[in-house]
Amino acid sequence: MVTSKLWGSELEFRRIVLRVVLIVIIVAGVTFTINNWFAGHKILAIVELLVVILSFIILAIHKKTPNLTIWSSVFLCALYTVILFGIFSASYTSALYSWLFIVPVLSYLLLGTKLGTLYSVFYVISGCGILTFRHIMQNSEIPTIAIVNVGLTLTAIWALSYTYEQKRAEMVKRLQEMASLDPLTGLNNRLLLSSIFEMLCDSLPEKQKSVSMILLDLDHFKKVNDKFGHGVGDAVLVDVSRIINSMRRRNDWAFRFGGEEFCLLIPDVTPSQASSIAERLRYAVEHTLNAEGFTANMTASLGVARWPENGQELSEIYKVADERLYRAKEQGRNQIVAE
Ligand code: GH3
Ligand code: MG
Ligand code: MG
Repeated sequence: MVTSKLWGSELEFRRIVLRVVLIVIIVAGVTFTINNWFAGHKILAIVELLVVILSFIILAIHKKTPNLTIWSSVFLCALYTVILFGIFSASYTSALYSWLFIVPVLSYLLLGTKLGTLYSVFYVISGCGILTFRHIMQNSEIPTIAIVNVGLTLTAIWALSYTYEQKRAEMVKRLQEMASLDPLTGLNNRLLLSSIFEMLCDSLPEKQKSVSMILLDLDHFKKVNDKFGHGVGDAVLVDVSRIINSMRRRNDWAFRFGGEEFCLLIPDVTPSQASSIAERLRYAVEHTLNAEGFTANMTASLGVARWPENGQELSEIYKVADERLYRAKEQGRNQIVAE
């Protein structure tokens, strides 16, 4: 996935939550380890010590790791297993079962709604099962009303955590769309250009390392607005975006730069293939947009450039494509310039 600033901050949010949780668990884990060791619960103390060591390791790598969800899953799996083990072996009066309350909260904050639900279902049900088992089978000292209260509080925390995470994720998704998509055409906007360009350059295998850029600018578009009104102008822009979308391959990226300027990033094509895609776009604008009795004579001019031949940086490629587009305009419009 492309990492825009917003996607980056979503990951950053989970990193911060993980860091806070790890620090709390390390402090609590060390306390429990010492306490249980001297109370004679040596196996529990060793298991807790292992969780503390794991927490230290994850704390050391959590800032850099690209596999944050995997590490969070491993950590929660270990933590929850110790909690279940504790609930099974400790006495009810130790109130160890109260750690069950953090299961849905941590699961949703660190793993999101899907994986969070999976973890919550498994560990909360297991925890309640162990409590109930001890109550029924072992004639334990747990009063029934206490079990009911634990169950109800857990359900409330679970429901709140789920709703919070679902709404938060929805909001982030909407913000991402607002920040990255052009509202009129649904194409990517200019803000995403550099991160997508970098992603393409980084992800291509050595032999296929090329990215072609096609800049398309409608000719005399201002006249369409003046003659037919802004609404028709908008409809034309949507039609152009449809043409671009219908022609692009799965790995090509289309943008609207605002106004009547569009851009296509096309990985792994030869210069002549890029030129023929540009020519097909030019032809489609000329013939498709004027097809249904629309008398504005819509045409487009296009400039084509290529990474790495025309420069190492995106700004250099864009400059070359823009200069070529400008030349296409100067030479009479409705044409492509690719060299
Ligand atoms: P050229 O052939 O030199 O590119 O001429 P042009 O008229 O296409 O270019 P110019 O830059 O002079 O005008 C662009 C026009 O695009 C001006 C503006 O009114 C219009 N425009 C910009 N954004 C929108 C939009 O979102 N909707 C509509 N309908 N028009 C827009
Ligand atoms: Mg124009
Ligand atoms: Mg323009």
